[in-house]
Amino acid sequence: QAKDQGRSTYQFYTSALTRAAHDRLALETSLRHALEREEFTLHYQPQVRVADGALIGLEALVRWRHPERGLVAPDEFIPLAEETGLIGPLGLWVMRTACRQAKIWSSLFARPLHMAVNVSVRQLRHPNLLDQVRSILQETGLPAQSLELELTESTLMSREERTEQTLRNLKELGVRLSIDDFGTGYSSLAYLKRMPIDVLKIDRSFVKDIPEDFSDMEIAATIIAMARTLRLQVVAEGVETPAQMDFLRERGCDSYQGFLLTRPMDAAAMTRWIDEYTDTRLRAVP
Ligand code: C2E
Ligand code: MG
Ligand code: MG
Ligand code: MG
Repeated sequence: QAKDQGRSTYQFYTSALTRAAHDRLALETSLRHALEREEFTLHYQPQVRVADGALIGLEALVRWRHPERGLVAPDEFIPLAEETGLIGPLGLWVMRTACRQAKIWSSLFARPLHMAVNVSVRQLRHPNLLDQVRSILQETGLPAQSLELELTESTLMSREERTEQTLRNLKELGVRLSIDDFGTGYSSLAYLKRMPIDVLKIDRSFVKDIPEDFSDMEIAATIIAMARTLRLQVVAEGVETPAQMDFLRERGCDSYQGFLLTRPMDAAAMTRWIDEYTDTRLRAVP
């Protein structure tokens, strides 16, 4: 009897594994075709200066309009895109589309708006990244200073000679470099000082429980102070409440993004949002 049970457990696991493997394969196959079928789309989330609420830029966030699954979040397919190498062409599509949109908004609203684009570790390692960024800027007409590349702490901590050189070259080109999800990795102060970084983005996990979690508040405040010391800009992500905003203002955070302002939206909806936001702010100024 024990043997039977053992076998049925074994069968249960294999069929569950087979199903998982099958799902993954199906996802991988449809992901491969998603780019040519134009199933990817970008949503944008605004970034606003804490001191006066001025709109300073936006972050581009990719989504997958899957024919059966609906809108799929990046956490569900970016890792797979990294593994399969699709992140290369997908990343270029994201960058080109986001730069084009930034150029349109900058002219439409007659103000410089920067565009932040997430760059994965595999993209950063690609030997042609610098040329690709340069030609996208040329093609779209977006000034290099308006493009901000977000790299995660773990991406930067791989500490490869080649990626360090790529970062320096990108910096020389004039683009801004930012460390995303800051505080979740292991950057040393020496490394931060040495690398050509412009911006630190405080990870959402340290913002979420302000003002209840005392140690999160200390961590957020420490990151802000550290950014000051290193003369870096500091952005808070995931700001959802006025209390969190007040705390960040008090501690001298430069800018923020989060649901308090708005959830990420597609380009058309974001155009209306910017129009209304900047309008209301203009009218609010005495
Ligand atoms: P991230 O770059 O740290 O982006 C911030 C995430 O927080 C976004 O999730 C955004 O929708 C979400 N968020 C913004 N404000 C709030 C808030 O107030 N509360 C909460 N709970 N969440 C908020 P999203 O769009 O699902 O993206 C997840 C991650 O996927 C991103 O994290 C980024 O690492 C990655 N990602 C997104 N687009 C791209 C891309 O084009 N390329 C690459 N390589 N990665 C991307
Ligand atoms: Mg990001
Ligand atoms: Mg982030
Ligand atoms: Mg994050």
